[in-house]
Amino acid sequence: MLSVAEILFAVSGLLLGLAFLGGMFLFLIPFAVVAFVLACLNRPRLAGPASTATLPVISIPGRSTTTTPVVAPDLRSEFRNGTGMANEPEAALKVSQVWARANADINRSMTDMLRALKIVVPHVNSVLVFTQMESQKEWGIRNFVNDKEISVNPCIRITETSGLLGQLFRSGVNRLLEGDLPGAKSMMYYLDNPAIKSMVGVPLIDHGSGLRVGALVMDSVYPNAFNDSIAHALSYVASAIAMLDYKGFYSAQKHIALQQYSGLYNYLRRFFQTMTVKDIFKQIINYVKTNMAYDRLTILAMDQGEELGGRIVYCDGVDSEQFANKRFTLSDKGVFVLSLMRNRPIERSFMPGFKDYLPRLNDSERKNLNLRQILVMPIASDPEAEIAQIAICLESSSSMPYNDHEKELLKAFAGVAGFAYDKALKFEKGREESMRDGHTGLINKKTLFEKLRVEKSRAERSRCNIGLLMMDIDHFKSVNDTYGHPVGDVVIKGIADTISNEIRKDIDIVARFGGEEFVVALIDTDSEGMIETAERIRKSVQKLTFDIHQADPLRVTVSIGAFLLAPGFNGELQKAVNNADQALYRAKEGGRNQVVQFQTAEPEPATV
Ligand code: GH3
Ligand code: MG
Ligand code: MG
Repeated sequence: MLSVAEILFAVSGLLLGLAFLGGMFLFLIPFAVVAFVLACLNRPRLAGPASTATLPVISIPGRSTTTTPVVAPDLRSEFRNGTGMANEPEAALKVSQVWARANADINRSMTDMLRALKIVVPHVNSVLVFTQMESQKEWGIRNFVNDKEISVNPCIRITETSGLLGQLFRSGVNRLLEGDLPGAKSMMYYLDNPAIKSMVGVPLIDHGSGLRVGALVMDSVYPNAFNDSIAHALSYVASAIAMLDYKGFYSAQKHIALQQYSGLYNYLRRFFQTMTVKDIFKQIINYVKTNMAYDRLTILAMDQGEELGGRIVYCDGVDSEQFANKRFTLSDKGVFVLSLMRNRPIERSFMPGFKDYLPRLNDSERKNLNLRQILVMPIASDPEAEIAQIAICLESSSSMPYNDHEKELLKAFAGVAGFAYDKALKFEKGREESMRDGHTGLINKKTLFEKLRVEKSRAERSRCNIGLLMMDIDHFKSVNDTYGHPVGDVVIKGIADTISNEIRKDIDIVARFGGEEFVVALIDTDSEGMIETAERIRKSVQKLTFDIHQADPLRVTVSIGAFLLAPGFNGELQKAVNNADQALYRAKEGGRNQVVQFQTAEPEPATV
């Protein structure tokens, strides 16, 4: 016949078994613990010495000692990012917060379980959970419950050779049960050395790897305080604790991954709204700064149009001033350039104290031997391209600052950034093409009016004039007819360049208005200034010579009509341009190669 205790133990085991399935069955853990508690309450009286006869005999060799105080070691450390680097990304902070919260939740539930054990099992002095430290060859105290909390030494480390507890490290040992420790053994994890007589312990098995990652242990100052049933029940609780930790870890990891992917998704959305190349670079820098820890970040970009080299568009962190705005060529031997040239990510790490410096750009740079981890992620507008256009270069003084997941995320980001970069390049090229005349490089008529509109309202506000010059090449038909259309094209380009040279770059505006007509807008001028500039342009054109492989070079002249667009001009921009055109007509009538200012019946508006 089964005893009540055995039935309850079986029920608690069954519930735990179901809880192993995870998901909605996780809520069964507390019921399993209750069943276990009841089972313990109903168990037979303390076993006599006979029941210890089958127990393993444990010898106690030397103990391991250490002084690093870590009270609650994490079971897994890969998400921790206490890098202390130049750039501490916001995302790493969020990750460590999530992980700290998960750890606190796991610890709280674990402590509840330990408390329950302490209450239901009579004569228990301490219940302790040991878990793996970072070195994996040591276990430390993660959690414990006893009557005098200060009595446990939190710095203690257990290794395979740590006497009684060290037994639980070994793969063959699935439990420890001692009822009569010789000479009231003092346990190594105590500060106040209570005379421990009984001990029961089971290993914690990681649900992911199947490896033992710690132990659950109870002790007592009473002899034979524990029996087989308790050891058996303890293994169920150990299993529940291991699962709690496993599930807690994965739910935190899932949460973190979700955060990271939603962060990545936000950038995808932003990339779709980003049209200019400059904004793409801003987004790239932003992403890296919020997601990656580094001591130095360098971003390389190839020049557009030619595939020979480029420059550093951004550098942040250690010695950043030495790289800022530097140029590089593809024949440079640095590792950053190599990644660009091959369109492949490159990762290199160097042991502390290494002597050989790996150039980043080329041999002329200052060698910093402290930066011993390099990760270069190229960005290519065409993923299959042989050469990438951008490289994100991360360097750090700590070894292995990024885990595989972070590197995968960065790679995914780089892929999307490449796509966005390609889109922005095409957009800018298309916009540029639609704005300009391909032959002369001057802006076209449509863009002229857009710019004039902006300039006109600015001039209105600051009460200044715009001088409008409309010019047309004289007898151009005969140039075409005599020397051919291609020569005519050369003349148009020559005149366009001449006009551009005679006006203030980035202030005045010149446009190809039509076939061989140009419009110049002189910003903030007066009648005299306008006519002076018009004359200067006229004379420069007159001096221009075109070699047509004949005795005399070809010369041409232009006629110019001028109109001063003053504040308060009553009419559309088109009307102002027409006025300049009327003046041009009079210049043609007057014999060409001359400047004529528009005259009205009304007096000229006063210049300010
Ligand atoms: P005028 O002194 O009165 O201006 O005489 P014109 O012969 O220059 O007369 P008009 O300004 O009407 O001539 C326009 C000519 O310019 C007609 C057209 O063949 C030529 N033309 C317009 N665009 C181009 C161009 O892109 N290339 C060339 N080669 N010729 C052009
Ligand atoms: Mg014309
Ligand atoms: Mg003409």
